[in-house]
Amino acid sequence: MPPKYSTANNNSDAIQRLQVCLAILKKMYPDAKPSLNYRNPLELLVATILSAQSTDVQINRVTEKLFKKYSTAKDYANADLMELENDIYSTGFYKNKAKNIKGAAELIVEHYNGKVPETMEDLVTLPGVGRKTANIVLARAFGVIEGIAVDTHVKRVSRRLNFTKNSDPEKIEADLISIAPKEELDSISMILIYHGRKICQARKPKCEICILKNLCPSSMIFMCK
Ligand code: SF4
Repeated sequence: MPPKYSTANNNSDAIQRLQVCLAILKKMYPDAKPSLNYRNPLELLVATILSAQSTDVQINRVTEKLFKKYSTAKDYANADLMELENDIYSTGFYKNKAKNIKGAAELIVEHYNGKVPETMEDLVTLPGVGRKTANIVLARAFGVIEGIAVDTHVKRVSRRLNFTKNSDPEKIEADLISIAPKEELDSISMILIYHGRKICQARKPKCEICILKNLCPSSMIFMCK
């Protein structure tokens, strides 16, 4: 279920602009796909928790060893916390991430028979798992498209394109869901992440060369700076 407090931004201008933007960006990023490496739902869950404030390249480097050392939820649940911290040290925020991974694994062992749960409702009860991580796990591991994963790129690009005025990721997700074609829910996040990484960068968006500049209410603001 999408967040219940949708701040629906469903005016026809936003709906139309989003459709046009998505069509353009899909052509620009035809190969947009997640780059985290994983072989099963547990590995995806762990990699996604680790990916906060880090790059996929760095996470893949760390998980290559990590996934050889820990292969089941029980392995993570029984892990020595300090050793786990050390194993994931280079991903940043390692203390919190280790605590969350161990805590999530304990719940998975205790309540879900060692298997990553397959519903949004259950996933968000796990430590370190919000709607963003849950959306990613549901879509990639189980093929369940529940909503839109809103990370820092999706947040920034959506706000600049005026698809939302909110700052809270769950409210942004609700705004995007309210104007997005249902069949695009799965692809929106990845496409906006690519555009945010390559063109609509945080500090200095490249509006001059942005393919969306004629559709973007923020382009003049940045180009006049
Ligand atoms: S025109 Fe500028 S602000 Fe708008 S989407 Fe493109 S890079 Fe981002």
